[in-house]
Amino acid sequence: MDEAFARSNGRCECTRDSCATHYLSRCSFTMSRSRAAFNQRKKTGLGDLDNASNCEVLCDLCMSHAGYDDYMK
Ligand SMILES: [Zn+2]
Ligand SMILES: [Zn+2]
Repeated sequence: MDEAFARSNGRCECTRDSCATHYLSRCSFTMSRSRAAFNQRKKTGLGDLDNASNCEVLCDLCMSHAGYDDYMK
């Protein structure tokens, strides 16, 4: 997850249209390593969460939206 956080530059990586705070663009929220939330982009059977390419760095608000991803499809 440190790798994913370094990639994000401390900025939320969310591009969901469902977030009113950054409609049609990337979220501009920045946070420290300890405040960041990590979301597994693709659900896998046994945790791939440490794989940076499958890990998305999100702020608290976007993490709450990410929880609905499975219902939006
Ligand atoms: Zn965000
Ligand atoms: Zn978002």
